[in-house]
Amino acid sequence: MRETVNVALPGRAYDVVIGPGLLHEAGAMIAPLLGRPHVTVISDETVAGLHLDSLRAGLAAQGITMEALQLPPGEGTKNWDNLIRCTEWLLTRKVERRDVVIAFGGGVIGDLVGFAAAILRRGVRFVQIPTSLLSQVDSSVGGKTGINTGHGKNLVGAFHQPALVLADTALLDTLTPRDFLAGYGEVVKYGLLGDADFFSWLEAQGPALARGDGAGRVTAVRRSVQMKADIVIRDETEQGDRALLNLGHTFCHALEAATGYGNRLMHGEGVAIGCAMAFELSARLGLCPQEDPSRVRAHLKAMGMKTDLADIDGELPGADALLDLMGQDKKVKDGKLHFVLARGIGDAFVTSDVPRDKVFALLQDALAAR
Ligand code: NAD
Repeated sequence: MRETVNVALPGRAYDVVIGPGLLHEAGAMIAPLLGRPHVTVISDETVAGLHLDSLRAGLAAQGITMEALQLPPGEGTKNWDNLIRCTEWLLTRKVERRDVVIAFGGGVIGDLVGFAAAILRRGVRFVQIPTSLLSQVDSSVGGKTGINTGHGKNLVGAFHQPALVLADTALLDTLTPRDFLAGYGEVVKYGLLGDADFFSWLEAQGPALARGDGAGRVTAVRRSVQMKADIVIRDETEQGDRALLNLGHTFCHALEAATGYGNRLMHGEGVAIGCAMAFELSARLGLCPQEDPSRVRAHLKAMGMKTDLADIDGELPGADALLDLMGQDKKVKDGKLHFVLARGIGDAFVTSDVPRDKVFALLQDALAAR
């Protein structure tokens, strides 16, 4: 079972190939991009321990050799130190512009290595081999790369499109249930922002996807990637429509900052909670029916996902502090909170016209329910 979505950006078009077992064919798929039969691969230790040998074998089948750098897993890796480490390592390996760098891992590796490729020799080509559900449906597609700094998430980076994305859905079998569900938060986001039928399909098929339904997973990844590709083609650098992909993210980024970007709250978990809150806010503003936030929450709960602030362990700051953290988000324009809200399931829109007191009240109520 093989699906291909083409991201038809003029001059920078590339394929996202989706299906089980792609790693075995990685050599054949990457060979046409290579100036010499050698690649550099950057991965995290967890992914490398599980799957690097298969990638090596897939490349060797076409006579391609590889050298690999392994970084510690986790969001903390997406920082200046590792950006320097990656670029220096690539320069030591004498990577040139005719070469291809491979980002082999989840969204952390994809964002970091993509950024290193963007700035190395003013831009070398890179291939994304996303290994987490989140990276297969979202971060590997669309060319946003970057790192976190002490000031917040993703504040330093570049738009740099990959030359190819290979989403091997068999790799999802080794994800922990928590990592799978975190990625599923982004899948749900696509249904909520632009495709009510997809959301209904997920309500029916979500539990089977979590149990490991391979064909269903290919369908879910393909539909998500297609939606992302369509939006990115319309608005590559987020002047308009691309901001729709940030549904749930204003809340999410504040919660990630409040919980220290660590194990307490994974990015995809924050997105799921953020989506539920964005629908709640939309209902309170009279934009969407009151049933919609209930339906969103019901599906997330049925999947065993974090849904409310009450599901986050440990202390959280007060509503004022959370609002301040939202203000740090780069989705702020002229000091106004920039939100993605919804007129209903599958019908999101971007606005910067949200009264601060409504957001404050929503946060206070959510904190009070903890
Ligand atoms: P991640 O890369 O930290 O991966 C999550 C965990 O899963 C890690 O511990 C990793 O080692 C493990 N893992 C990955 N693949 C595995 C596999 N096949 N088997 C077993 N374990 C595996 O995080 P993520 O959730 O993939 O991505 C989150 C990051 O993506 C965040 O930094 C976020 O900002 C970024 N992101 C970027 C974009 C974009 O457009 N560039 C979009 C969404 C999210």
